[in-house]
Amino acid sequence: MGPGPVNADPRVLRALSTPLVGQYDPVMTGYMAQTQALYREVFATRNDATLLVDGTSRAGIEAALVSLVRPGQRVLVPVFGRFGHLLAEIAQRAGAEVHTIGTTWGQVFPTSVVEEAVRRVRPHLLAVVQGDTSTTMNQPLDELGDVCARHGALFYTDATASLGGNPFEADAWGLDAATAGLQKCLSGPPGSAPLTLSDRAVEVVRGRRRVEAGIREDDDEDVGEPIGSNYFDLGMVLDYWGPRRLNHHTEATSMLYAAHECARVLLDEGRQKVVDRHARAGRAMLAGVRGLGLGVFGDLGHRMHNVVAPVIPDGVDGEGVRGALLHDFGIEIGTSFGPLRGRVWRIGTMGVNARLDTVLTTLAALEHVLRRAGVPVPPSGGVDAAADAWAEG
Ligand SMILES: *Cc1c(COP(=O)(O)O)cnc(C)c1O
Repeated sequence: MGPGPVNADPRVLRALSTPLVGQYDPVMTGYMAQTQALYREVFATRNDATLLVDGTSRAGIEAALVSLVRPGQRVLVPVFGRFGHLLAEIAQRAGAEVHTIGTTWGQVFPTSVVEEAVRRVRPHLLAVVQGDTSTTMNQPLDELGDVCARHGALFYTDATASLGGNPFEADAWGLDAATAGLQKCLSGPPGSAPLTLSDRAVEVVRGRRRVEAGIREDDDEDVGEPIGSNYFDLGMVLDYWGPRRLNHHTEATSMLYAAHECARVLLDEGRQKVVDRHARAGRAMLAGVRGLGLGVFGDLGHRMHNVVAPVIPDGVDGEGVRGALLHDFGIEIGTSFGPLRGRVWRIGTMGVNARLDTVLTTLAALEHVLRRAGVPVPPSGGVDAAADAWAEG
């Protein structure tokens, strides 16, 4: 019940044990094509260039940023938590001229503030985290595509922690690139990063290769010195996943099975139904935490559905409570970083764990541990409030 990784769906664990085949086996190329089609639905996009990057979520982030950005180009990152700093750092390593805007932890950016910065910085790329688990905030993205279009910027988001559990519309929001991982709301293991690129982003990726590898426009042959990452060169990864199937890396077969099954599990239940279930479980957990008399961190009008940050009561040893929950109840909740260290816990309700029973047992256990720690918690206050909130639907 932490902010991720969380339990995998049993169907996904079974898929991981499927016998292995090589990436040119027709069965495997078939799975790859199916996986692309499934993730088009998950991201709500018609982008042809929808595929998996082999590696954890940050492999997807890195692939997107190093492939979309050339050294010296301006990248704007609105930072509202830990993962915004990660985007800025990766863009920096890609040689970009990185500009950031900041806000207090627990807040998101109004569109007007982002637009003002885009107008001032005139970035090649706007890179924004959608759900930042470090603060539990969910940055609205639905108006930022228009902002980018007005100012000629590419628009990228890291949706690792939010995809599946919160609304996400790659095409309708005008995204040029989005990346994710499996270990949050998609109920899978870490190790595969679904990614989608708009046609415009594909042009940029391919143009970048031509410039840097010295590939002639009139000839497909590579005639120059390649620079930058090989593994994360999305031009090469696209040729590998695309109809040409040009050899690149050995596909991480078992992770592809897992990613394929994660998408099927989600789409079998229904995209909107999964978001609704996360919203319902998140509301129940929020109500339960308050029912225990705890404060909750952040702007609750912009919280992620799938993680909540209860304020640690004065005088309580936060790590001691986490340890008791883990050792006595087998329930893991999260600690926190940076300015929130020691101030809040983070409790997740995501993926296969976004259920009534997990919410209630977590709150019952937390009530017990808090009472033992000397906190005057209302008896059954958490469970009652959560059950009521859940019943409201
Ligand atoms: C959890 C999370 C990640 C995780 O990256 P990994 O490489 O899978 O560890 C990345 N971005 C965000 C926003 C996250 O919440």
